Amino acid sequence: MQRPARRAILQHGLAALAFTALPRTACAAPAVRVDDPGLAAVVAPDARPRLLYAQGRWCEGLCYAPRLGGLVVSDVRANRILVIGEDGGIRPLRDPSDNANGNTLDGEGRLVTCEHRTRRVVRAEADGRLTILADRHRGKRLNSPNDVVLAADGALWFTDPVFGITMPDEGLMAAPEQAARRVYRIDPSGRLDAMTDAVGQPNGLAFSPDGRILYVSDTGAALKNPEGARAILAFPVEGGRLGAPRPFATLEAGVPDGLAVDEGGRVYAACFDGIRIFAPDGHLLGRIATATACANLTFGGPDGTRLFFSAGPMVHAIDLKVRSTGPR
Ligand code: MG
Repeated sequence: MQRPARRAILQHGLAALAFTALPRTACAAPAVRVDDPGLAAVVAPDARPRLLYAQGRWCEGLCYAPRLGGLVVSDVRANRILVIGEDGGIRPLRDPSDNANGNTLDGEGRLVTCEHRTRRVVRAEADGRLTILADRHRGKRLNSPNDVVLAADGALWFTDPVFGITMPDEGLMAAPEQAARRVYRIDPSGRLDAMTDAVGQPNGLAFSPDGRILYVSDTGAALKNPEGARAILAFPVEGGRLGAPRPFATLEAGVPDGLAVDEGGRVYAACFDGIRIFAPDGHLLGRIATATACANLTFGGPDGTRLFFSAGPMVHAIDLKVRSTGPR
């Protein structure tokens, strides 16, 4: 597209373009990269992401929430939560947001949010008040809850790495009080249990369609540690407990961040080069390429087949042939 038009978009916002395709440049590479023929069941080879928003600093925590007006987005480093409406309009939801990161809906459709700055998980009530669901474990403050997911039994599972207390842009610097970075479970009764400390820096998480596998990103390499993990682990879920994890996938660069699972059990990971899509057995089907690293993703849209994903300051959507596992 011509440069003046692009400047106009950047100056005047993307609202009018939110759910329409951007014109393709003559040399644009295809966004869908195929590693296995199985990808054909997931996405059309010529499918293109649509740009919904480009004015963020570090967009994360995507959550499709029609009752809140559309797609919830945490701009962690801008310290606010916004909503992208179906009409492309942008409205603030929480500003400031205490460097909010991961979001999900609980069993009653209420927004549950991980906050870096306050090092807690909160639930927004109908009147806007925030109820603290978790901020301490055994009397000590959590590190910085990162991402949260709803289990079929109504429990909320979240990860607690140190990024919100070690990255100045994303929270307040502090020494960890916890001896480990864990995955926690908030029982519907409100009880908080530590489920595993086997993940160096647990980050994104998602359940398999039958709820018997919990996938967790291990992102130790994000701490400028070349020896750190850049992997997705698969934990068996047995009687509400986690068994020993097995490696599911490993990246050659960057780290896998947010995760999602579709109805067929395929695993979608926000990675340095786009959204990588893995078969249930862990082999790579392909990816939806992006120019900058992806941080988070979620399914949504009117029929659940729209995949929303964030890449740095931007949020995109692409329509797939599959949908998520529903309110899990
Ligand atoms: Mg994350």
